[in-house]
Amino acid sequence: MDDLDVRDLQVHFGGVKAIDGVSLTLSQGEILGLIGPNGAGKSTLLNAVTGFQRPTGGMVSLDGRDVTGVAPQRLARRRLIRTFQAARLFPALSVAENVELGAVGVGGSRRSGLRTAREVLAWLGLEQLADRPAGAVPHGAQRRVCVARALAGRPRFLLLDEPAAGLDEDESERLVADARRVRDELGCGLLLVEHDMSVIMRLCDRVHVLDSGATIAVGPPAEIQRDEAVVRAYLGT
Ligand code: ADP
Ligand code: MG
Repeated sequence: MDDLDVRDLQVHFGGVKAIDGVSLTLSQGEILGLIGPNGAGKSTLLNAVTGFQRPTGGMVSLDGRDVTGVAPQRLARRRLIRTFQAARLFPALSVAENVELGAVGVGGSRRSGLRTAREVLAWLGLEQLADRPAGAVPHGAQRRVCVARALAGRPRFLLLDEPAAGLDEDESERLVADARRVRDELGCGLLLVEHDMSVIMRLCDRVHVLDSGATIAVGPPAEIQRDEAVVRAYLGT
């Protein structure tokens, strides 16, 4: 029962069916890729699952309990945590202070939050950045700091929206290594929205493909890569 379960999810914006009947299950200790062309509904799905957008229909459950429409803060305290497509750090605060907010956000005290922040930064090998203003570190490092902040909340389910966007090859390589450790050492379930197919192929246990708000394929990366409907969606024919 330790899983995140989405059943027949619907998110409509007026006449636009951004999500139209999507079901998926994320278990602890697995990495599920969520891919699809621009506008397919990936971010909307993440928003609806994490309480940032109220679904029009369907159900989200966490460990068998209905959490549909529950506020993001409460879901975070239940260890369901997400990152955003654009890095959202407080540029004037230090890296450690930004990461600390991830711990305080799930109910930690400031004192324990700072300790957690230092631990997480060390775990990711980012301790040398701890005292620098977040706005002053390079883009790639800022994206890893966003992951660090999410990890400071001790997630059981971590949803990442395009974490490799704007990263160079070395940085994506590091992201792949970090994500594997999050799965293998922390036993976290990861949902990864990502455009970089090489990241998806190397990292994911399973891949879920959306197009126009609906599921067009689910399966292991190697199968997805040669799935006809997927190829068609990406070629736009
Ligand atoms: P993706 O992340 O896969 O690129 P999105 O989830 O951002 O796609 O968008 C899916 C669809 O929903 C798009 O057609 C988009 O224009 C629409 N959409 C997303 N958010 C809103 C909103 N707040 N209001 C109206 N339409 C939206
Ligand atoms: Mg998106």
